[in-house]
This record gives sequence, C-alpha cells and structure tokens, in this order.
Amino acid sequence: MPPESPFSPPALPAEPLPWVESTLLAAQPRRHRRRRAIVVTGVVLASLGLVAGAFWGISVLAVQQKDLAVAVLRTAVDEQAAAQKTYDARARYGASLAERAGSVVARAEFNADTTPDAAHFRLAYETIAALDDETPEDNGAGAAIARADDDDSAGYRPPWEVFTEAAADRDLTHDVVHDRDALIAAAKEATDAQDWVDDTEAAYFSAVAARGTSDIAANTLATKQSQVALTRLIEQADDPAMSTSRDGAFLSSFVAAENALVASQAAEAAELADPALAVRREIEDYARSLSNEMTLDFVWAPEVNGKGEGWLSGTAETYQSDGGWAVITLNYGVEEDWGLDENPRALVAHEVGHAQAHRPACSALFTGPVFGSDDEMWATAWSISLGFDLPGSGIEAYGRPSDEQIAVAGQCR
Ligand SMILES: [Zn+2]
Repeated sequence: MPPESPFSPPALPAEPLPWVESTLLAAQPRRHRRRRAIVVTGVVLASLGLVAGAFWGISVLAVQQKDLAVAVLRTAVDEQAAAQKTYDARARYGASLAERAGSVVARAEFNADTTPDAAHFRLAYETIAALDDETPEDNGAGAAIARADDDDSAGYRPPWEVFTEAAADRDLTHDVVHDRDALIAAAKEATDAQDWVDDTEAAYFSAVAARGTSDIAANTLATKQSQVALTRLIEQADDPAMSTSRDGAFLSSFVAAENALVASQAAEAAELADPALAVRREIEDYARSLSNEMTLDFVWAPEVNGKGEGWLSGTAETYQSDGGWAVITLNYGVEEDWGLDENPRALVAHEVGHAQAHRPACSALFTGPVFGSDDEMWATAWSISLGFDLPGSGIEAYGRPSDEQIAVAGQCR
C-alpha cells in the first residue's frame, strides 16, 4: 500500500488483493493534478467500497463454511452416539454371555468332554472372551460443538479465525467418523462372536441332551425317579429358550443326574441278582402286576409312617408327569410277613390303589361324588375290590368303605 494513501482500510489477511494495488499505482502523473486527485479519490473510494464489499463477502463465506462444518460435525457426532449405543448393548450382552459360557467351560465336567461340540464351544468362548473394549477416547467433538453454540451468540469475529475453526471442525469430523466406523466394526465383530457362542452353546447342550436320552435308554432298571430327574434337565438342555439358565452349575447338575441314573441302575441290578432280596422282588412284581402299566419305584425301609417292627406299613407318592408313575415305600414287615396270610398283599394293593386314582381312566371315579377325592377310602376300597376284604386293605387303619365305594373303585382297572 503507498504511504500517501489517506485511507486506512481494515486489517486484512496477509495477502492484499492485487487489483487494489494496481488502481493506486495508476495515479502517478503530476499534470492535471486537481482533476486527477478527484479522479483518484473517486477511484479510491470506489475501490474501498469494493474492498469493504469483498471483505463482507469473505466474512459471510467464513461463517457459512463454519456453519456447514459444525452441521456436518453434529451429524457425525449423532451417528457416533448411535453407534456407541448399539455397541454398548452388544457389549453388555457379550459380557453376560461370556460369563455364562465361561462358567460352563471352567467346569471339570466340561473338560472331561472330548466331543467336537465341546471343542467348538470352547473355541467360540475363547474368542468372545478375547474381544477388547472398543469404546473410543473422547475425540473432543462434544466440546467443539458446545464452543460453536457459544460463538453463535458472541457477535462478530474476524473471518480468518472463523475459517481456521471451520477447518478444525472438518478435521474433528474426520476423527468422529473414524470412531463411529470403529464402533460399527466392533459391534459387528461382537455380534459375530456372540452368534458363534450362541450357536455352539446350543449345539453343545443339544449333544449333552442327546447323551442324557441315551443314558435313560441304556439304564431301564434305574428308578423312574432318577430317569425323571434327568429328563427335566434334558428338556432344559435342549430348549433354545432356556439358554440363559444353562451355566456351569447346570452342567454339573446334569452330569450328577446322569451319574445318579447309572448308580441307580447298578443298585437295582445288584438287588435283582441278590437271592436274599428275592421276596422283595416278588412283592414288587406283584405290585406291578396290579398297576396297569403305571411305572412303580420301590423303597424299602425298616420303618414307614412311624410303623416298624410288628407292623405292616406303606406309603405311595404319585406323579402324573412322564406317563404317570409312583414311588411305593414299604416297611420290612411286609417282606417278613409275605406269604403268612393275605394281609401283606392287601396292603400292597392299597398302596397301588393310591397311584391308580390318578390314571386318566380312574380319576373321574376318584374325584366324583362317591369318593370326593378321599384318598384312604379310595385305596382301601380298591384293595377290597381285588378281593382283600381284610384288615390289611386299610380297614383296620381307616374303617371299611361303603359297598357302593367298593363297587365304584372296582371300575378302575
Ligand atoms: Zn393309604
């Protein structure tokens, strides 16, 4: 800018605009000074108008660029927040899944399993357990947006400052987009790993369930009680909707139920082969001959219902699940007196009668007006209906049912 210039334009960026310079250089010849001065003044004033207009235009441009940069940054920040939310939800599920799968994999029962299903499940678990937390560090975008909001109400600022901020916001947007993409990728990786664990977990427990089913098929002498206990766990192992209940403790329960089944099979087989228990086998066979295919477990005890030596005593617990079954408990007196007279048979018939009340063919008779679900009258009448009009049928303990009751119970066959 020439030193004689009477004007002091506003501060500009380092590079002056070139046409301002050439216009001022044109005012050099000394002749016609006054006219020239007027002309020059007019030109300078016009130029300054242009300078001010251009400066105003640059300021507007700067603000527009800044607004655009902040708007783009805002959108990117929203997208990153959404990606973070998705990732957090994934990570939460992943943490609970890894904990549950880890509790299975840590069990000795699992480590004893050499099947491919167990190996696949372990591999999937190790993959999910190795995933890092992808939550990014604060990239400063939130603070930049807050600053931009403050600036909006702070009044005029020179355009070069505004241009610089717009450029910084664009850089920040780049960082935010990068963080967003990293979160999306991490959520995808977590989802894949979780799906793998879910799939291999289901396959592993499905194989465990199949093993349990084979166990039951191979251990038919085992008590119904031990079979039913394992059956419930097989259902849990095989049900996709119950995966969240399958942890290490569940696996241990399952294997314990399998072991109990096998132990029961061994005990029952040993008792069958024991000649000293031949009378018990005979009594059990007799009871089964009355039970219309209902499965019966037997428990022998020195004392049942508080009655031991010198007494005949028994109980029956009936279950309607699994095709209907019962546990009949008999005291040693039944075994000792077996064959002396018909009372032990009458008592066994009474206990089987309790179980029969719950067969579909008989339950209406039991719950109908003649019995009104009176257990002991029913069991006694059922025993009498088989020909045991004796104290052991229940008459001694409960009194004699009516002839009508005996006739109705006799319809249950
Ligand atoms: Zn009874």
